[in-house]
Amino acid sequence: MPTLTVDGKQIEFKQGQTIIEAARFAGIEIPHFCWHPSLSISGNCRVCLVEIEKMPKLAISCSTYATEGMVVHTHSQKTVEARNAVMEFILINHPLDCPICDEAGECKLQEYAYVNGKGESRFEEIKVRKEKRVQLGPHIKFDGERCISCSRCIRFSDEIAKKNQLTFVQRGDKVTITTFPGESFDNPYTLNTTDICPVGALTNQDFRFKSRVWEMSKTDSICVGCSRGCNTEVWVRNNEILRLTPRHNEDVNSYWMCDRGRLETFKNVNAGDRIDGTYIRREGQLQKVSWGEALNVTAKSLKDYKSSEIAFIGSAYATCEDNYVLAKFAKSLGVTNIDFADHIIPGDQDDILIREDKTPNSLGAELVGVRPVASGMNFSAILKGIKEGKIKALYVMEEDVISLDKEWQSAIGNLDLLIVHASNENKTTALADIVFPASTFAEKNGTFVNFQGRVQRIRPAVATEEMDRALDGMEMSRWDKFGTGFDRWMQGHKFDSKPSWKIFVALSQLLGFKMKFNMAEEVFAEMSNSNSAFKGLDYDVVGKHGAQLKIKQTANA
Ligand code: SF4
Ligand code: SF4
Repeated sequence: MPTLTVDGKQIEFKQGQTIIEAARFAGIEIPHFCWHPSLSISGNCRVCLVEIEKMPKLAISCSTYATEGMVVHTHSQKTVEARNAVMEFILINHPLDCPICDEAGECKLQEYAYVNGKGESRFEEIKVRKEKRVQLGPHIKFDGERCISCSRCIRFSDEIAKKNQLTFVQRGDKVTITTFPGESFDNPYTLNTTDICPVGALTNQDFRFKSRVWEMSKTDSICVGCSRGCNTEVWVRNNEILRLTPRHNEDVNSYWMCDRGRLETFKNVNAGDRIDGTYIRREGQLQKVSWGEALNVTAKSLKDYKSSEIAFIGSAYATCEDNYVLAKFAKSLGVTNIDFADHIIPGDQDDILIREDKTPNSLGAELVGVRPVASGMNFSAILKGIKEGKIKALYVMEEDVISLDKEWQSAIGNLDLLIVHASNENKTTALADIVFPASTFAEKNGTFVNFQGRVQRIRPAVATEEMDRALDGMEMSRWDKFGTGFDRWMQGHKFDSKPSWKIFVALSQLLGFKMKFNMAEEVFAEMSNSNSAFKGLDYDVVGKHGAQLKIKQTANA
């Protein structure tokens, strides 16, 4: 491979790489505002200027290609002076309102100003005033005075979202961003511009002013909004999720996620309608009871039915671990009527990220066995079986079957027993005989398999009462490292919920076929030993960015 030297270090590069790319690949970060690895090069901020030996002038490293034997200096006196001068120009009209800016703490301008700023301004004139709090689109507010005209948002809109909706207007120090006349900045991906805007000019309407970034913990996770499974970070303060941001994974979502996934998929975790404890229906009302009582009543009730009279509904919203243990539990009871519901919105898909399967784990649920066994009933046959009185007990895990269609609503009255695991109140929990509080994606360990057949990890970002109790136990020792403030993370209200697989494990002990899982990781280990699709995998191998399963792609892929 060809090599160049950056700051005295000889590094390899691929033909066609620019200096900034080659340096980054080797772990050397050259300051930049307008350059972004997934966007075209614009070369307008000039902060990535570097000194290249045998070249008469400094060159911008974002658009200068690396060549064999090139010698580059990113910290020479000339380079540092040029960078300081660029920073001085950029800061001339900047309002320097970091104390009230959402971007503070993750702002490139703030960061570089500390390192490369003079600490004082020679500019004595009045700063240019521009429009502030401009509603650019449904989710985004724009502050013209903070904008440094890097054009990242314009290029993102054109090149990634494929919507030519933003442009520069005016010139010189009056230049600003706007939409085309009469248009709004409105497409399924607009909020990615708030991530890539290097300053606080574009802010997320939903998150704006909710928290300083250093007050939150962040945890690697996966979006549950569709079968893409975009890699995310979950940001939490006082045990409440305040925002999701995309996490780079070139195999899945690059640097992006859609606005719906970002805004809608975590609200149920914080919602006031969470199921907070175990409930049993008595005299027509759901009454809160202890975990022990709910488990005992459930185990006793299940024994009253023949296996052919019971059906299990798994969930493409639940993890592989939850679905695997559900399937194993059903098998131990001899139940073959087992399936899960599809949530496909035909046509609601694009060639960027969004998938028409609106669940994160339909492929995983299928792979771990949540499909009818032998001549068992599938989803529609279970409904028919309920209507005909053949199915008398229905066990539903993390699925609101009654909201699916009117037929389920009218059929459910035929059941003798309806047991439900749910994180939030819904139409099915309202009619259930026994309700268990299920942990959400943000409160448990586990895996999802996306439409590409890629298995990916979720991790607890929000604490439950159970985690509080387990602080001294084994479980905590296996959790991945926490974000920026464990003490803060543990404050705030905690819901009394458990991952669905744990509820089945507790029931199995009462029913005499004890399952011996203590951690989600142990469930995964059994899956990988018994299921060829997961062979050779464990949580460490799946890691931060997932692992590709060796399976045939589905028709939906
Ligand atoms: S709004 Fe942000 S991303 Fe867009 S040009 Fe201004 S500084 Fe760059
Ligand atoms: S594309 Fe799908 S997985 Fe990605 S953010 Fe949107 S809803 Fe979530």
